[in-house]
Amino acid sequence: MKYLICILLLISFNGIAQEREMKFPDVPGYQTLLVDLHIHTVFSDGSVWPDVRVYEAIRDGMDLIAMTEHLEYQPHKEDIPHPNRNRSYELANRLAEQDSLIVVNGAEITREMPPGHSNSVFITDANALLHDDPFDAFRAAADQGGFTFWNHPNWSAQKPDGIARLSDMHRQLISEGLLHGIEVVNDVTFSDEALQIALDNDLTILGTSDIHGLIDWQFNVANGGHRPMTMVFSKSRNIADIKEALMEGRTAVYFENLLVGRETHLVPLIKASLTVESARYGDDYVLPVVISNPSPVRFLLENMTNLTFHANGDVLEIDPYNTTTIYVKTLEKLDEFTLRFRILNALTAPKQHPEVDIEVITE
Ligand code: ZN
Repeated sequence: MKYLICILLLISFNGIAQEREMKFPDVPGYQTLLVDLHIHTVFSDGSVWPDVRVYEAIRDGMDLIAMTEHLEYQPHKEDIPHPNRNRSYELANRLAEQDSLIVVNGAEITREMPPGHSNSVFITDANALLHDDPFDAFRAAADQGGFTFWNHPNWSAQKPDGIARLSDMHRQLISEGLLHGIEVVNDVTFSDEALQIALDNDLTILGTSDIHGLIDWQFNVANGGHRPMTMVFSKSRNIADIKEALMEGRTAVYFENLLVGRETHLVPLIKASLTVESARYGDDYVLPVVISNPSPVRFLLENMTNLTFHANGDVLEIDPYNTTTIYVKTLEKLDEFTLRFRILNALTAPKQHPEVDIEVITE
């Protein structure tokens, strides 16, 4: 009995550990890496020391995080005086160097709207971004090779209706090559309008935690929640390749159970996540098609073919980190055929869901 309990504990513990550490399949030509480019500590208005951010990120299976303290908002400076705005990065990076997590330097340029708040990451010296004129701050970031993006353009403290709108200042920043991306997901919010702005202006689609407290509490990790994150489709796991992928917009966002991204990036990720493990007829023409899903996403699929299923209606779920069997009524024994699904929990534009074909070759 004791032995059985131990086994059960091990199984359940492994289950929890596996779900906490996020992992997505690679796509043709690229590794799928997980990054969070918006993180705070006590070195601006966060509640924890930088080491906690490193431990959280390792537990979540992140490949890269950026430390992005507010440059102009320093509510803890009486208790923690720090003339060096790189300090949070230095402390986190020193710890991360011993592990597989990459930490990069960043800063949050913190202004009224416009331009609101923006992060620049992959910078070398946050102190050099302190300027009165916001354009000077953006130019200093660009001089350091920074990747700069507009934070929470839907933030209701700056946009009471929660609608992200591009200002003339943003248009100018984009045209001067000073603004490269936009958060379509920030913390617990998603913005259709920000997604449309990204598509219209060729900006990189991003999702970040903007964590101030604890990841576990903010995103309810104990009950299966996770931080919002950006998936980067990178040639390798080195910093230069990850930055190149961000500059070229090779990203998608994972937020709650939703995937957001351009169709060219999202469809390969979904196809890599939904593969046929087996399709073998028994004595009848009801074919069990075993779909393997190595991703943490619980896919919600709408059947787009005339084929019907023996155990589902036209909308079905595919379990995360597991296999799901779909019983397809093929009417006769087929050597091969195509399933076509609309992915209801993925967005390539506001209200637009991508469709993917799954080729089935029977055994
Ligand atoms: Zn922030």
